[in-house]
Amino acid sequence: MSGRVYSTGIQQQAVSKFAAALPEFNGRHLWIFTGAWVVQNPARSHHNFDMENLLTVDGPGCLHCEQHWTPTIGAKCPGEPKENR
Ligand SMILES: [Zn+2]
Repeated sequence: MSGRVYSTGIQQQAVSKFAAALPEFNGRHLWIFTGAWVVQNPARSHHNFDMENLLTVDGPGCLHCEQHWTPTIGAKCPGEPKENR
């Protein structure tokens, strides 16, 4: 996605029940929205992701090629962004 990226260095484990729902890459874009929430204490094991601490929602963008959706973007996805190839 476009814009600035911030990282805390804190790694979170992906929740496998969500990862399992992702389809295999089939040459077509996979449109997603992403959300970011403000977390007061990352060391806590439980976090609330609700409207009071929602920072931003971005998208739709393609999970594979990281391009933003436009009305004219083609259906075929080039896959990973060029800088990662
Ligand atoms: Zn794509």
